[in-house]
Amino acid sequence: MKWKNQILNLEPYKPGKTIDEVKKQYQLDTIVKLASNENPYGYSPKVDQALRNFQASFILYPDGNASNLRDTMAGHLKVDPRQLIFTNGTDELIQIISRALLEPGKNTVMANPTFSQYKHNAVIEGAEVREVDLINGEHDLRGMLSQIDANTAIVWVCSPNNPTGTYIPKEALQPFLEQVPNDVLVVLDEAYYEYVDKDVAYDSLALIDQFPNLIIMRTFSKIYGLASFRVGYGISSIDNIQSIEPTRPPFNTNVLGQLAASTALLDQKFVENCRSKNEVEKQKYYNFCQENNLGYYPTQGNFILIDFGLDGDSVSQFLLTKGIIVRSGKALGFPTGVRITLGLEEQNQQVRNAIKECIELNSFIK
Ligand SMILES: *Cc1c(COP(=O)(O)O)cnc(C)c1O
Repeated sequence: MKWKNQILNLEPYKPGKTIDEVKKQYQLDTIVKLASNENPYGYSPKVDQALRNFQASFILYPDGNASNLRDTMAGHLKVDPRQLIFTNGTDELIQIISRALLEPGKNTVMANPTFSQYKHNAVIEGAEVREVDLINGEHDLRGMLSQIDANTAIVWVCSPNNPTGTYIPKEALQPFLEQVPNDVLVVLDEAYYEYVDKDVAYDSLALIDQFPNLIIMRTFSKIYGLASFRVGYGISSIDNIQSIEPTRPPFNTNVLGQLAASTALLDQKFVENCRSKNEVEKQKYYNFCQENNLGYYPTQGNFILIDFGLDGDSVSQFLLTKGIIVRSGKALGFPTGVRITLGLEEQNQQVRNAIKECIELNSFIK
């Protein structure tokens, strides 16, 4: 076969262990999965209701334009419906943006570590990947600017950043956008936007009017609790959306996903409730880390990256034996860290108890 050269050494995405696998392997009844930043509080109860009342036929293709979701979203965000694109999760939006802009001879700039799919898709398209190390967990925006040249097609900015949880303040993002050449697309990944503390959050949508080369990505997989339905979306200028649209598969979002998303969007009380509970749980982790001399990054997401100063794999392996699935920092570019999704109050307590055990065991061995 004449496979693209660049995919011969590319690894497929490795999801963490499934709940069933861990149950079986360690003979446990209950498993706490805090590895993929899903919403521990679930999703709006209005979604169940809407799905129960669903009438249309599964025989027909879904509305490829996602018209109802589009209009609901446009109303909610106060943007033109033509400024929106809907995709099979943000993952697919990353894929089609890459497809629309990247090719051999072009390059793309991103932080390191950051969300893995930017690089993955750039490699598939044969573009050069320019990674700029984070500084103290934060994007080095000046370093990223210095990597941009005439062949740069996309700059990826993840805020809050996965896996560090750091958020780029407006005072840093605005001057950065002013300096990026206006023919370079800036992709602002805001998968965790709704979790950001009220006192630091700013209206990034306003930046779209100011910077026509900006596209914002958001998702229904995180705070909306609908990861399984695969609905993500992009917001940009009408021109940019029109240019990207031909690379979108025609029926990429499904009928139930569209219904679930548009219903969930209208229940902002649920969203706010999750955000405030997350804030309380976050603070408990901060206190715990400080008491136990563990390094961590202040997070604006629903996850926390804790630096154990130990091999991340061995810590996550220990937690696994306790029925807790987390994400080792090793696969995320932080070899001594572990990324933990903030779960329910009692789950988080269970995690902290297990971490405490792990630390004690390790200081004993040392
Ligand atoms: C989870 C996540 C996504 C992907 O979300 P989907 O919409 O489920 O594809 C994108 N970006 C970041 C930073 C994420 O953490």
